Amino acid sequence: MNVLVINAGSSSLKYQLYEMSTERVLAKGLVERIGMDSSILTHEVEGQPEVREVSEILEHTTAVRKVLDMLTHRKFGVIDSVDEIQAVGHRVVHGGETFRESVLIDANVKLEIRKLFDLAPLHNPAHMMGIVAVETNLPDVPQAVVFDTAFHQTMPPTSYLYAIPMVLYRKHKIRRYGFHGTSHDYVSQTAAEFLGRPLESLKMVSCHIGNGASCTAILHGKSYDTSMGMTPLEGLMMGTRSGDLDPAVVPFTINKEDLTLNEVNSMLNKHSGLLAVSGVSSDMREVVQAMNEGNESARLAFEMYAYRIRKYIGAYAAAMNGLDVIVFTAGIGENSDLLRKKVCEGLTFLGLELDEERNQARSKQTRRITTDSSKVDVLVVPTNEELLIARDTYRLVQKAAMAKSETPS
Ligand code: ADP
Repeated sequence: MNVLVINAGSSSLKYQLYEMSTERVLAKGLVERIGMDSSILTHEVEGQPEVREVSEILEHTTAVRKVLDMLTHRKFGVIDSVDEIQAVGHRVVHGGETFRESVLIDANVKLEIRKLFDLAPLHNPAHMMGIVAVETNLPDVPQAVVFDTAFHQTMPPTSYLYAIPMVLYRKHKIRRYGFHGTSHDYVSQTAAEFLGRPLESLKMVSCHIGNGASCTAILHGKSYDTSMGMTPLEGLMMGTRSGDLDPAVVPFTINKEDLTLNEVNSMLNKHSGLLAVSGVSSDMREVVQAMNEGNESARLAFEMYAYRIRKYIGAYAAAMNGLDVIVFTAGIGENSDLLRKKVCEGLTFLGLELDEERNQARSKQTRRITTDSSKVDVLVVPTNEELLIARDTYRLVQKAAMAKSETPS
C-alpha cells in the first residue's frame, strides 16, 4: 500500500509518498509560495537529481494537483497513476481535547477540526485547506489526520491545568495541550526498541530541540507532562520564542513601550529566544559559530538555552520520581554535541555519565551517548514525524477495511 503524507501550511505544502510494506519513501517534496507570484515545487526521488518547477499556484487544490502530476510524471514520477495512492495522512497541529488519537476523516471530524480554529488560528485553517484539496483531487481515497497534541492527551489535570479561574478552562478550554506529540511518540517508541526494554517500564524525558523546542515527561509510555502549553510559546527558550516568562511582563511591556497586544505577541513569538539574547541569529549553528569567535552575547544565549533544558529534565525527573532515559531529537538535539554536553553536564547527580567519544560521533542512526555504566541512558534518536503519520494512516485504513469485510452484507 502507498500512503501519501501531507503537511499543509498557509503558503506551503510538504509531501512524502511511502510504500508501506518496506516503509520506504518513494518520493518527497515541497510546494512553496502558494498564492504568491511565483510558486516553487521541489521534488526529490532517492538517487536522482532534484526537480524544481516554478509556476503560478494560487491555492492548495492546484498545489495538490501539481504534486500528483509530479508523482505520476513520465520522467520524474514514481507511480503510473494516482490509483496507486491508497490513503493520505495529514499532519494537524491542534486536536484540542476532542482528539486523543489519529482518526480517519469524515464530515464530523472536519467539523470538529474547524471548531478548533480558535486554538490554532495559524495552523488548523491551513491544514483544512490541505484536506479539502486532497478530497477534491482524490475523492475516493481515504484520508486520516494525525494531531500534534493527541499524544499529550494522557496528561493528568495536575499537569495540564493552569492555576487561573476554572471558568476559563470550562468556557474556553484554556489549558496545556503540548505539541510535537508525533515526534515525542515516535522517538520514545524507537528509544525503547533500541534499548530492548518495554516502553511501559521506562521513565523517559524526550527533548525535541529544533527551531521550536519542547521537553516531555513520558511515564510508562504515556505523556505525563510537557513544556509547551496552550500554544507553542511556553516552556523552553527557542529560536525566536521566549518560552517561560512571568505573565506580568506582558501588561508591563504594553504599558511602558506603548505596544499593542499583537505587537507583544509577535515580540514573544518571533523576536525573542536565541535571536534576541544572542543578537546574532535564531539559528543555533550561527549562534555557536559566533560564540566560538568570542561573542559573549552568543555565549550567554547558548548557556541560557541549555540551562532551560536541563531545568526541565530535572523537574520531570522529580515529577516522575526517577529517570531511566533522556532522548535528544530534531535539528539541534540530533546534531549539536556541544548542546547535549552542556545540558548533561549538570545531571551527574542522577548518575548520568556522558561518553565524550560517543557524543561526538557523527551518525544518522539511533545511538547511545552515555557510558555503559551510566545510571541514565541518553540517546540520540533521529525523529521521523512523517513515518509515524504514514504508519497511523496505514493502520487506520487497514482496520476500516477489515471492519468492512467482516460486516455481513
Ligand atoms: P524545525 O523546528 O523548523 O523543524 P529543525 O528541527 O530542522 O527545525 O531544527 C533547526 C535547528 O537545528 C536550527 O537552529 C539549526 O541551526 C539547528 N542545527 C542543524 N544542524 C545543526 C548542527 N550541526 N549543529 C547545531 N545546530 C544545528
